[in-house]
Amino acid sequence: MEADKTLHNKPLQPIAIVAAMQEELGALLALMPDEHRTRVAGRDFWVGHLHGHPVVAALSRIGKVAAATTATVLLERFGVRAIVFTGVAGGLGEGVEVGDVVVATRLMQHDLDASPIFPRFEVPLTGHARFATDTAMSDGLAEVVNGLLSNPVLLLGQPAVQAFGLQAPKLHRGLIASGDRFVSTMAESAALRRDVPDALAVEMEGAAVAQVCHDYKIPFAAVRTISDRADDKAHADFKEFVAAVASRYSLAIVDGWFASLPAAAE
Ligand code: SAH
Repeated sequence: MEADKTLHNKPLQPIAIVAAMQEELGALLALMPDEHRTRVAGRDFWVGHLHGHPVVAALSRIGKVAAATTATVLLERFGVRAIVFTGVAGGLGEGVEVGDVVVATRLMQHDLDASPIFPRFEVPLTGHARFATDTAMSDGLAEVVNGLLSNPVLLLGQPAVQAFGLQAPKLHRGLIASGDRFVSTMAESAALRRDVPDALAVEMEGAAVAQVCHDYKIPFAAVRTISDRADDKAHADFKEFVAAVASRYSLAIVDGWFASLPAAAE
């Protein structure tokens, strides 16, 4: 497969793991015993290894511009050969519930509108409104997620499963919408569902990173755990979820995915 070849093309170049917030990545950093931290553009970049693979982990901070800056630094300064975004998102699609996981096939910016000069949502001069993720990376992540979700107690512990009602979390694959807004009212999420009916989840960074990776022709994948339903309860649900379990999901998914990659050539 073409994309798979791209990922394994330059095994000594690192793969980047990006999250927006410390809570989403914290536990993973503990798995990188040799990591050392570098600061660029006011952000922390942890350079090290996971399962023998060179990695750079970074916190983008929140929003599309912050994410695009982080992706550009990762590509230009650290020479990463692929980027994986991990974190939480609001569920939009029917049946996309708190504790479920979405592996993106495509990402779009729901707040981009240069109409009537360009069609609504289209990124001017690219001819695209939606940016595809790398199929091989996404398939690999989905496989890991499926395995993890089959045993939520092992993944999260009984108390969290009980507290958040995560007895049967599901994997979804499809469109993720990104925009510079924390969607936290029923009215807003209903409008989004109307405008982008096939969006499974909404967050604030993914489509920006997808666009940067598209420009650089670098494979990209995004995996988001649903922390809230982007409705009137979103703020409270989000805070509790992020504090209690978001990090566990990211840790297990990213760790499992690196463990599944063929060994890096020395
Ligand atoms: N009000 C929050 C702001 C965090 S922004 C706070 O008190 O900290 C939410 C972060 O989680 C972003 O990085 C975004 O990508 C993701 N996210 C989770 N739920 C979301 C939602 N309903 N709408 C938009 N982004 C969401």
